[in-house]
Amino acid sequence: MSIETPAATTASITINGDRLWQSLMQLAEIGAYDDAASGLTGINRQSLTDEDGDGRRLVIGWMKEAGLEVTVDQMGNIFGRREGTDPDASPVMAGSHIDTVATAGAFDGCLGVLGALEVIRSLNDAGLQTRRPIVIAAWTEEEGVRFGTDMLGSAVAAGRLTLDYAYDLTDKAGLRFGDELERIGFKGERSVRLEAPHAYVEAHIEQGPVLQQKGLTLGVVSGVQAISWQKVTLHGRAAHAGTTPTELRVDAGLAAAQIIVHVRAMVNSGRYGQLRATVGHVRTSPGLPSVVPDLAEITVDLRNPDDALMAEAEADLELFLAELPQTQPGLRVETKRMAKTTAVPFSDEIQDAIAAAADDLGHETIRLMSGAGHDAQEMAAITPTAMIFIRGQYDGISHNPREYSTPEDCTAGITVLAKTLQKLSA
Ligand SMILES: [Zn+2]
Repeated sequence: MSIETPAATTASITINGDRLWQSLMQLAEIGAYDDAASGLTGINRQSLTDEDGDGRRLVIGWMKEAGLEVTVDQMGNIFGRREGTDPDASPVMAGSHIDTVATAGAFDGCLGVLGALEVIRSLNDAGLQTRRPIVIAAWTEEEGVRFGTDMLGSAVAAGRLTLDYAYDLTDKAGLRFGDELERIGFKGERSVRLEAPHAYVEAHIEQGPVLQQKGLTLGVVSGVQAISWQKVTLHGRAAHAGTTPTELRVDAGLAAAQIIVHVRAMVNSGRYGQLRATVGHVRTSPGLPSVVPDLAEITVDLRNPDDALMAEAEADLELFLAELPQTQPGLRVETKRMAKTTAVPFSDEIQDAIAAAADDLGHETIRLMSGAGHDAQEMAAITPTAMIFIRGQYDGISHNPREYSTPEDCTAGITVLAKTLQKLSA
């Protein structure tokens, strides 16, 4: 056999869509359960469970088969590295997570990790080298369902949260994150503070209906919107529904309804840009048909791609809540902050690289903000970052066994990932 000349790094590669699909389906068998609500097979592979350990070992096995050097850091984040031709160049990183919520499908997170793996396998098949190393990352506890903080692994790696904070988190059974990490054998030695890579790219199922409605396969994600969660508790006075005159009531349920209507009016006013407002939790007490509720508890979820407009929306809500007791003297309003993150704009340069790769491959794309949190927003703090959204089916339902992206769409998205990584690592 003759010695081949090294192929040009810009040569385009074809990814093996069947192999990608097989890998997705094989990983999905770990943590599979019969989901009664949907009649489908769901996946429950929460972070640092035995199932997560099995999933990690499967993926690491595949990384090693693909010739990657695998390291695990103190948070259990997994890195698979393929060397480049320039030993001094910082790597291009791609990845996502393989932990799931309790009622998951096969794509959320896994598509980003196994997609990056498929890019490496395809580069190997084609005998292609890159100048920069390519590193695949699989982040720990992205979902936050078990230990209560999402993007945990990437947040510690990027420096927003400390290792001690993460280790001391406990699950519902009181088990410590640090102990569980050790128990499943993934408390690694590699220092958790990540040296900034050259760039970070994450492919992810959209988890929303926009691409499907627009008839597009792929989207370029321009950032993650700001999120504000509050719990609002309204204290009224219990009273008999038949005997208490209306003007003498302090109806906590009425106040809750006023807030629900007000936040929608805030959205409809157009004053707060692309504000979204949701009251997803409502509970009244005593919860009886014949008693005026003395207590109502609601959550208010506000989202906005613009931090300044978000602040104005929050100020509007605060003023409304302050004045609400004037409508019913005796009403008391209590608020508790549950979560707050600022908007994270992604790198224009990386977005453009993704858009150009998609365009070269004949895919029309749009730019859209992510409504959900992703590891990419943590990485954006230390390196130029952007994401590729891949169309989901059934209005983009996610965190549900019905979550689905077609093999064709997965192949298209990961082909764009491949081209983007090739370009960034050239
Ligand atoms: Zn995810």
